[in-house]
Formats: sequence, C-alpha cells, structure tokens
Amino acid sequence: MSRVFNFSAGPAALPTSVLEQARTEMLDYQGTGMSVMEMSHRSQAFVDIAERAQADLIDLLAIPDDYQVLFLQGGATTQFAMIPLNLLAGKRSADYLNTGSWSTKAIKEAGKFCEVNVVASAAASNFDRIPDSADWQVNSDAAYLHVCSNETIGGVQFHEYPCSSSPLVADMSSDILSRPIDVSRFALIYAGAQKNIGPAGLTVVIVRKDLLGNAAPDTPSMLDYAIHAKADSMSNTPPTYAWYLAGLVFRWLQELGGLEAMAAINKRKATKLYTAIDQSNFYHSPVAVRDRSWMNIPFILPDAAHDGDFLSAAREAGLTNLQGHRSVGGMRASVYNAVPEDAVDALIEFMQTFEKERG
Ligand code: PMP
Repeated sequence: MSRVFNFSAGPAALPTSVLEQARTEMLDYQGTGMSVMEMSHRSQAFVDIAERAQADLIDLLAIPDDYQVLFLQGGATTQFAMIPLNLLAGKRSADYLNTGSWSTKAIKEAGKFCEVNVVASAAASNFDRIPDSADWQVNSDAAYLHVCSNETIGGVQFHEYPCSSSPLVADMSSDILSRPIDVSRFALIYAGAQKNIGPAGLTVVIVRKDLLGNAAPDTPSMLDYAIHAKADSMSNTPPTYAWYLAGLVFRWLQELGGLEAMAAINKRKATKLYTAIDQSNFYHSPVAVRDRSWMNIPFILPDAAHDGDFLSAAREAGLTNLQGHRSVGGMRASVYNAVPEDAVDALIEFMQTFEKERG
C-alpha cells in the first residue's frame, strides 16, 4: 500500500492514523460486534461516540457554555439558506462581505430571503484580498454580518476578524480547527466537514443559544436550528459514520497538542510554501501578502501551457490534486491539518526541480 501526498481542496486528506483506527474498528466497534455504520443512532454505543465527539470539539475550540454545537447534514451550502431563515428574526436585511466564490454563493442564496447589503467586494481586484474594513458600508440595522473566513478557491483568509456591531457569522468550512479562535466573537460559525473535520456529509454549526428559536414561520423543520438543538442533533438520523470519524479527528488533534500546536505547524507549512513561491522567478502567488491563506495556496506558472506537464509530473512524483479550481485555473495546494509537513517539503522540492528543468 502506498499513500500519495494529497493536496485536494475537499474532500481532503485525513490523518492516516485516524483511517487506521477506523479500519481496526470497522467490523467490530469495541466489542459491539458491528460497524459504527450498522448501529442505531439511538444505541448507547453511538450516543457515547456522539457525545464524546461533541465534548472534544468544545474542548478544542474552547466553546463557551452559551453556545450550541450542532452536527447537521446538507453541507455548508444548506447553511447559506439556514442562516437567513433563522437569524433574520423579523429584520429585513443582512450584511455580507464578498471576498470570493463562496461569499458570492452565500450572497446569492441569502438574496432569496432578505435584502442583502454587500458591505464591500474584492471583485474588482479579482478577489486577491480582503477589502479594508475601514471601507465597509455596513448597515446599522442588519440582522447579522456574514464573512467567509477562508476562501477555498481564491486562497484569501482572515488573519484578524473584524469588529462588527451586528452579530458576526462566519463560514469556516476550510479553516476551522486550523488555529485557535475566540468563539465568543461570533454569533454563528459553520463548516462543512470535508476539509479539517472529517468526511463529507457532516456539517458543524456553532451558534449562540440566544439566537435559537426565531426561525421564519414557514421554515422546514430540517432547516430550523432550534429543532436540531432540542434533539441534540438527532431529530432525524444523523450522518453517524461521519460523526464518528470527526470524533477520531478531534482526538487526533488533542493528542497533537490542540489548536495552538496545530496552528504552529500550519503556519510553518504555509510560510515555507509561500517563501518558495516568492523566491522563485517562475511561480507566482496572486494573493495580497497580508491575506494569504494558510490552508489553500494558489499559485500560477508563467505560462498556462506548462500546467498540464506540471500536473502530470507532480502526479508521477506522488503529489496529487494540485490543479486550481476549474473556475480560476492555475495551481492550488490545499494544505489542511492532515496534510503532513513532509508533503509540503516534497512539493517544494518538486517545484524547484520543475523550475530548473522548464524555467
Ligand atoms: N464554503 C466554503 C468556504 C467551501 O470551501 C465550500 C466547499 N468547498 C462550501 C462553502 C460549500 O460546502 P458544501 O459542498 O459542503 O456545501
């Protein structure tokens, strides 16, 4: 068996030790004689798995008591609708910052439910930065302000969160658990699991409890946070196996030393790669230095005609999924928590060799 260095943007690499543990427990989970996939979500064995995962997530992110953690389905995309449905609470408008493809999608969906005030957009500079907060045109009566913490496609990330007079909502799909955050600054945080949490199919929502219970009258039950909160995220069958694997990932993070330790590794990995890009005359990063993502690192070659060769030579060297998103082209290395530092070292070495041969 050989595993490649996987730079996929999501679903993405999982820690090998987590997959090994899942393999060990695949046919007989801790003496139950069955796989976690085959268990009732109401069984004691699964309830224990679910509660432990939730407690470990609370511990990792130091989530205060006045927040509810939800393990939902539907991906981050479903949150684009759930947020206005639940948080407008009688108000007519919400503020959104547009920093790229995922903000744009969130804005479009929210427009079905409310007036969307785009406080600022980086579209004019091809989403290469986060617009300066001094220039944001916020609405004092907005129900909330929505930001995307890390634009997975553009590779733009907040390194300092904005101060907001309205409740701050963040899409952290591609950078949750990559570094410590002060949860109390946010009204709601959401993330699809398939980057830093676990397999696709699970969506984590962390919401301040006082915001629950205000869903619009016709909100379907599955889209009402309060209903999920009341049922401990088991108002219907949850994605049990993804929840279990997320729990294994949380424990892996704890054993590694928690989010401070993870952040130090992530910073080191990203810094190395950006330094290699900046020092070369061949590769180029399209993102403003201040806002460069630690998780998704896009880079371009001097001539797109080299792209195919670069990708096939990389694959041969065991480095996979480096192609940029189909909407922007170029290259992108996603270096989430589970992508080891060795993978980044191997990528840098490969890039330097390629540059020498083709540059
Ligand atoms: N937001 C961000 C930042 C994302 O990266 C993604 C998926 N790549 C989404 C939202 C959409 O997530 P999902 O596919 O889970 O609906």
